Amino acid sequence: MQEHGKDHGRRGHGQGAGDGISVSFEFFPPKSDKMEAALWKAIRRLAPLGPSFVSVTYGAGGSTRARTHATLARILRETDLVPAAHLTCVSATREEVDAVIRAYGEIGVRHIVALRGDPQGGPGTPYEPTPGGYVNAADLVAGIRAIGGFEISVAAYPEGHPESPSLAADIDNLKAKIDAGADRAITQFFFDNDQFYRFMDRVLAAGITVPVTPGIIPIHNFAQVATFARRCGTTVPKSLAEKFEGLEDDPKTARFVAATIAAEQVMALREQGIRQFHFYTLNRADLVYAICHLLGLRPSQPGAMAEPAPSKPAAEARAQGGGS
Ligand SMILES: Cc1cc2nc3c(=O)[nH]c(=O)nc-3n(C[C@H](O)[C@H](O)[C@H](O)COP(=O)(O)OP(=O)(O)OC[C@H]3O[C@@H](n4cnc5c(N)ncnc54)[C@H](O)[C@@H]3O)c2cc1C
Repeated sequence: MQEHGKDHGRRGHGQGAGDGISVSFEFFPPKSDKMEAALWKAIRRLAPLGPSFVSVTYGAGGSTRARTHATLARILRETDLVPAAHLTCVSATREEVDAVIRAYGEIGVRHIVALRGDPQGGPGTPYEPTPGGYVNAADLVAGIRAIGGFEISVAAYPEGHPESPSLAADIDNLKAKIDAGADRAITQFFFDNDQFYRFMDRVLAAGITVPVTPGIIPIHNFAQVATFARRCGTTVPKSLAEKFEGLEDDPKTARFVAATIAAEQVMALREQGIRQFHFYTLNRADLVYAICHLLGLRPSQPGAMAEPAPSKPAAEARAQGGGS
């Protein structure tokens, strides 16, 4: 039976793996009714796993300001999930950014993912702070702390931020964000766990003691994820690309391959003692749900978890091989 409304999201009530696994899920604000329906299908599927929080991204230059706000408001209205609001400094003065922070507070958001944002000209072009605006993420963290009442997460980059002169400079920048008052870092996605372990050694050596949660991206579409990776400086190992070779027109097999790859990555991290995972869901639940299951997470309401039964025509189409 398909269920709606508050009962689906039980804050932290998912049956954890018993060894302290906690997960968070990142969504982006939808642009159309169709995308909104897809987002909510994903939220309702994942909510019973009891994520510690779910975050909603903020488009470059505030382009999604209203949609991010509306998505957060709906999460607060219709679920029991803990939302986190992403926020950037791009193309806005301090007063404008502070107004967004206060508006988040007014609807009950208590957690902000504080980011500088990409340069207006896109990744790879020089970043120009807006006159009268927050200059970088550390400055924004200090601004959010000054307003008060929010938990704050910031971004971290196991392979270094593309604009950083060195990984050491990037870790200094991460330290500056923590010293300004951030409670946690969430990493850019990566595919080589060794990069993450080496990064964590340096993070600890720098005296950073807050949790640093690995960001995991299940590969729903290899070409798309490879493009994201190029833009944000994440290495795509040759061996990973090879696993998707020849599957360009075979999404079903690609999905099995993607599930295996993400499961191997996450289980290896777990073997090394990692207990917190942040999933870039791209508003899709299937792979993330499967990986969480492998991590030992179980829904708080087993009956509420089943995918809604397909309508008769859809079921018939599937039986005839017309859909996945
Ligand atoms: C978990 C996560 C979530 C994200 N969510 C979003 C989102 O919702 N919307 C969005 O638009 N983008 C998002 N991004 C992308 C992010 O905005 C970009 O990576 C952006 O280019 C950098 O943001 P930052 O907060 O890391 O910046 P910062 O920490 O300010 O650093 C940016 C770069 O500038 C350098 N730097 C900073 N201060 C100084 C200084 N004083 N002197 C010299 N160098 C300095 C840093 O070393 C780094 O190279 C996200 C990234 C991650 C990892």
